[in-house]
Amino acid sequence: MEYLLKLLRSFHEKEEDKAQVDRFASLLTDRVIPQYPTMCEAGVKIRNSKATFPKAWRTIYEGLKRVGFFRCFIPHEHGGFGTSEESLYSYMELLGYSCPSLGIMFVAHGRAVDMILIGNSEDQKAIYLPRFADGEFGAIAMTEVEAGSDAGAIRFSAEQAGENYLFNGQKWFISNAGLASIYTIVVNTKKKKSPRALTAFLVENDVEGFSVEDLPEKDGLKLLPTGRLLFEDVTVSRKNMIGPEGRGLLLAMNVIDRGRIHIAGICCGLAYRIFDEIFDYSRKRVQFDHPLTSSQEISFKISDMYTQINAARGLCFYALRQMKTPFYRGSSSQAKLFASRMAADVARSGQIILGGRGYLRSNVVSLLSADARGMEYVEGTTNIQRMLISRELFRAQQ
Ligand SMILES: Cc1cc2nc3c(=O)[nH]c(=O)nc-3n(C[C@H](O)[C@H](O)[C@H](O)COP(=O)(O)OP(=O)(O)OC[C@H]3O[C@@H](n4cnc5c(N)ncnc54)[C@H](O)[C@@H]3O)c2cc1C
Repeated sequence: MEYLLKLLRSFHEKEEDKAQVDRFASLLTDRVIPQYPTMCEAGVKIRNSKATFPKAWRTIYEGLKRVGFFRCFIPHEHGGFGTSEESLYSYMELLGYSCPSLGIMFVAHGRAVDMILIGNSEDQKAIYLPRFADGEFGAIAMTEVEAGSDAGAIRFSAEQAGENYLFNGQKWFISNAGLASIYTIVVNTKKKKSPRALTAFLVENDVEGFSVEDLPEKDGLKLLPTGRLLFEDVTVSRKNMIGPEGRGLLLAMNVIDRGRIHIAGICCGLAYRIFDEIFDYSRKRVQFDHPLTSSQEISFKISDMYTQINAARGLCFYALRQMKTPFYRGSSSQAKLFASRMAADVARSGQIILGGRGYLRSNVVSLLSADARGMEYVEGTTNIQRMLISRELFRAQQ
């Protein structure tokens, strides 16, 4: 962690930003990193519509609130810290290093916050942003059984009834299911398959007719609640509409661009943790009377791991610089595409260097390896990133 911390601190000029990185990192070092393997073993379950976490979670959650982590996603004028993009990115790397599930929880949370910011209703901002700042979790719900990569196929029915809408449908694979108290959700208000029929709303977790179910156990990301949201005749006020009717998909796609850089940051942190573990191990492990690092095959593999991590990090910083340009979507997709595959490759190299130990499920590199594989699906699969990159390339050529 020390080297990563030094590097991340060097990205910040202001002393207060460096101090915030330090506060956050010491919480992760003291409370999260030591608990990661046992928390993965216990996992999170959704019961009676609520996510039930291992015992250590309560202290972690209180610690995150104490260091003001929830405020980092909120602008100054709404009770937040107005944290810079570079700082937020650094926090994502630190989360990826410590517990990737926790990172994804905050990516989903951050996108719910962004949906409300981008929707730009002063009433919604005044009601919900202070609650997010105080530690309530948000979620973003798009995926349905029949509408995954093809979000334009969302069918979830929202029928207008006067000033309200009647929600009937299901979402699945939703991060923070059973944890969030505020869900941002993209639904179909026109009963036809068209991106223009999709509208975003926010829904609180205690509305009548709403429930949450667990999904079958995931391969990795054991601490991330991932569930199914069920709506049966749920009445949602028009006041809860985010942005104009028919613009839900557009709004969601815009906030997900930022999410992709954050996922890429988590991947860099995750891969760096594996690198740290392997670097240490390979110097200490002696076979044929020599440390593993005396073999060129092993030391070259370690050099490649390190270079790949920094290449992914470079793409993340490039994407952060493109934020206000027309090339933002393509560059955030490139960062996510490269970093998620890089994390899976680094994990595989790490497991090979560990030998048989790398095949033990309880080994931290095995746990991180299963987490890394999950990164290729979140915020759009690898092929969807390629699709977005090629669309931007061909549009630029016209
Ligand atoms: C851990 C985790 C957390 C998640 N969190 C959320 C969340 O918070 N909110 C949310 O809404 N969703 C969430 N998802 C869902 C995720 O966004 C979807 O799994 C993803 O969009 C892919 O959809 P799908 O699983 O239906 O796969 P499909 O869309 O069925 O795709 C299957 C395969 O086909 C490929 N494919 C599809 N279409 C094409 C094409 N035209 N060209 C080439 N290849 C194609 C895909 O890349 C993929 O490899 C989460 C998923 C996971 C695993």
